[in-house]
Amino acid sequence: MPGEPGSYSGYIYYPAAIYTHLAGQTLGSSSTNEVQASLMVKLILQKLEDCQMEGVAHVGHLLLRSTKYIYQQSVAESMENYLQYMLYQRQCLTGLAPLITEHYHDLVTVLTPQRGYVISFRGADLSYEGAEWVECSECGDVSFALRIPDDDDMRHRQCQQSPQGIYKVNSPRLLTAYSTARKGRFEEFF
Ligand SMILES: [Zn+2]
Repeated sequence: MPGEPGSYSGYIYYPAAIYTHLAGQTLGSSSTNEVQASLMVKLILQKLEDCQMEGVAHVGHLLLRSTKYIYQQSVAESMENYLQYMLYQRQCLTGLAPLITEHYHDLVTVLTPQRGYVISFRGADLSYEGAEWVECSECGDVSFALRIPDDDDMRHRQCQQSPQGIYKVNSPRLLTAYSTARKGRFEEFF
């Protein structure tokens, strides 16, 4: 954690993204803009995320793409998993198709990039891909780690607890730290 022994600061650039949050618990900085979206658009975006897909708008058209990984360490097995997962994605999209058709215009409007912004949707678990502060759900170990959407890959493998914990980006302690940081209380550390 910032200011604690053995800690360090890391900086990473992300293109702007849409993320969801509980009422009154917004994260992010003053450069965060609220994107207005209807309930149905939010629902579609969340459902897409639930089956590891994302929607992107490009010159007024909607592009849907998979965000599921094929891992370098186990390509054959990952491919097998991917092909299986596509059946689930197909089922998910089949269910969503009437909603996407009905709310196409609103969806594309929400996802259309504005000057300097690329719009993508991140679910309420803040599952960004990239390095972030994470905290083990069992032992509370805090690390700055590459965040991967799959829980099993976020397991704390040196965890002394049984079962081993999962590194989470949104533990209460981290959320408190972020909201404190937003209030400028970390100024003394910098
Ligand atoms: Zn642990």
